[in-house]
Amino acid sequence: MDALLQTEQPKALFQRFEVEPEEAKGILRHQKDPVYGFSYSLNPYRGCSHGCRYCYVRDYPAQVPGQPRGVLHDPAQWGQWIAPKVNAPELLWAQRHKLHGETVFMASATDPYQPIEREYRLSRKCLQVLLACPTTRVVVHTRSPLILQDLELLKAFGDRLSVGFSIPTDDDTVRQVVEPQAPPIPTRWAAVERLSKAGVRVTLGAAPLMHLHDVGAFVRRAKESGARSAWVGGLRLLPHDPFFDLLRQHHWLHILDPGYAEGVRKAMHELFPRKSKQQLRQEGQKQEPEARVRVRPAPRQPGLFDAVG
Ligand code: SF4
Repeated sequence: MDALLQTEQPKALFQRFEVEPEEAKGILRHQKDPVYGFSYSLNPYRGCSHGCRYCYVRDYPAQVPGQPRGVLHDPAQWGQWIAPKVNAPELLWAQRHKLHGETVFMASATDPYQPIEREYRLSRKCLQVLLACPTTRVVVHTRSPLILQDLELLKAFGDRLSVGFSIPTDDDTVRQVVEPQAPPIPTRWAAVERLSKAGVRVTLGAAPLMHLHDVGAFVRRAKESGARSAWVGGLRLLPHDPFFDLLRQHHWLHILDPGYAEGVRKAMHELFPRKSKQQLRQEGQKQEPEARVRVRPAPRQPGLFDAVG
């Protein structure tokens, strides 16, 4: 068995983990605003076992299956439950007529290659449906090397598929704090290299940008990984977000300074020059990813820049 595919979250983190399979009513969510660069998002799961501590999706209302309507998951339990949409591939097949010439983003509110995908294979089955839609472009976004289990399928899409890989820090001890249940950083680099070497187009997302020890080395690593493009994304804090206190506790408040992200972005653009309009058109994109990221301004927090002067 491929060592990269064995990446699992530590068992202790799953002691209270609930799997709540469900029949979804719909699977394609229309994105009306063309600025995002895709027309439909597709989430084969509700919830996400990666449980990133900054994840704003935890605040979306999420019904608890089997409970009266309106009984919602507590946002504090984000990362401790997952609802596989067991009929996702069938729903997608029934709606594939909508996808002619469109771009599908998988996934906007979950990681399609979290560990449970090993068992349910819903992302794989959805990709098989999308492969049968010859004019549809696909962007798969993940933090997980488990995506390699579908390498042959990804390759079969050729130019109409790209993978967005999120690597928000160069330090796995930072990752252990901010994304405790997500795969280690070194395994993500290895997965980006493997995908790129196989000819799959990878866009590296330093998003949301966290603390970096060495910006220059990080950007060089991104280039050497074979990623075709890279971008830097900001953090979206919820009102009174406990993640702010976590940043303060670890002396990482500088990541909220727009100048910090701008510095990393500038370094990134030196090795990954911005694409021309023609290149973007050829890739079916309207704008670079970072131009599309709409970050809700973080609510003003007391002492926001205490640590950066
Ligand atoms: S992988 Fe994405 S969806 Fe899942 S918890 Fe992390 S940020 Fe949220």
